[in-house]
Amino acid sequence: MNSRRTLVMTRWMLATCALAGIVLVSKKWLHVNPTTVALSLLLLVLILASEWGLRYAIVVSVLAAACYNFFFLPPFDTFSIADTQNWLALLAFLATSIIASRLSQRVRDEADDAKAHQRELDTLLRLSKELLQSESVSALLTSLPASAVAITSATAGYLYLIDGNRLYQAGSASVSEVELPHLAQLANSLTGTQRAGDDFQIPLRSGVRPRGLFVLRLPQLSNDTADAMASLISLALDRVQALENLARGDAAKESERLRTLMIDSITHELRTPLTSIKGAATTLLSGGVSAEDSRELLSIIDEESDRLNRLVSEAVEMSQLDAQQVQMRMKTETVEELVEESVEACAWVRSQHDLRIDVPPHLKVSVDPVFFQKALCNLLENAAKYSENGTLIVVSAGVANNRVSISVADRGIGIDSTEQALIFERFYRARNGTSVSSGTGMGLAITRAVVQAHGGDIDVVSQPGRGSVFTVTLPIASA
Ligand code: ADP
Repeated sequence: MNSRRTLVMTRWMLATCALAGIVLVSKKWLHVNPTTVALSLLLLVLILASEWGLRYAIVVSVLAAACYNFFFLPPFDTFSIADTQNWLALLAFLATSIIASRLSQRVRDEADDAKAHQRELDTLLRLSKELLQSESVSALLTSLPASAVAITSATAGYLYLIDGNRLYQAGSASVSEVELPHLAQLANSLTGTQRAGDDFQIPLRSGVRPRGLFVLRLPQLSNDTADAMASLISLALDRVQALENLARGDAAKESERLRTLMIDSITHELRTPLTSIKGAATTLLSGGVSAEDSRELLSIIDEESDRLNRLVSEAVEMSQLDAQQVQMRMKTETVEELVEESVEACAWVRSQHDLRIDVPPHLKVSVDPVFFQKALCNLLENAAKYSENGTLIVVSAGVANNRVSISVADRGIGIDSTEQALIFERFYRARNGTSVSSGTGMGLAITRAVVQAHGGDIDVVSQPGRGSVFTVTLPIASA
């Protein structure tokens, strides 16, 4: 506000100095004729009109006319005019400068309008590009307020949807739950964009049905742009909804295919422990087995039934993840907390290995803590299972390209490069791993499914005999 006032004062001072300068130079030093003076003053008025606007031009025109009369029209140094022709000259000067100023101002206004129009078109174009990038309703709803706030330079923005009474906020918006009924009422009653204080309230519709309300806090927005924004947002919502419906149809087919595949794989995998259990039980029943042998046979039955148990529960978990039947309950947590909780959940790893944790504090991710801990625990247990007791295991984390990465590194047996992509497939066990430790081959498949359900990815870098580094990358949680 202060800087604006200073600018206005400076302009007035400069305009007055320029006027005084022209009068002084023409009168004292150049002694030019009145026509030249009038043209110089007119030029000053035109420059002011085109650069700073009509206000400056009109005031300076009147002052210039007064100076012209006082200094350059006879009788000099008085405001009276002797000759009628000079009256006409003075009036012509005043009229010309005012008309020219108005014309110049009109051109200025039109240029400003065109620029504003261009800016709003740019905004709409950028918004539509942003909106087209989302492939799911949830991704679109979460990103929309933030994108709109960033693109329009608004200070705050929020999106309210009648369906599910949902609210998504960005910027400095802080709408509380208490206000939801009011928003619902507004969304149902508004027929066009309205301004409430600094807020532009834009109703969203699906056909003729009210769908919600989009609110942007910014100083200026034309109604046409607001309406175009409402149409863009509604179209984008319809588009992702249609995409999701299509994907759901495909997913149902895929889920059916996976279920069949799963049943085939499980039947195959169950056969091995069942054959061992059956063999051991038959031998025991046939009698004549020494005490030592029967102990060994019983421990085979014990181990294999544990394996069966693990296999069945992991298979159930995997098929639920495949069918997207599990509900992720996302929470923002620090990576430090998550790692500590996972280490606690598989405490045996620490008791048998030199476990080092190198995670920066305050690094946050948005995850379902229960599922994510399980995924981290799988990686820690694998690092421990496939390396010698007492060796070093390092859990580290960092940020790169706006994503958080969490790595578990071991100095174990490593994985052959030809098998590194395969170990994430269900039931796959690497050739060198089977002799080192028992397992189901499901752990990494589950881990990958969990990480992907969080919008992340998992990767491995490994060298046989040297060790492996499993890295999970996740989107960084906004503050
Ligand atoms: P499981 O450990 O039950 O066999 P996983 O799905 O967890 O099943 O792992 C699949 C395979 O990947 C393992 O059988 C093992 O061969 C290999 N693997 C996993 N983690 C490691 C690791 N840290 N070091 C070496 N090999 C590993």
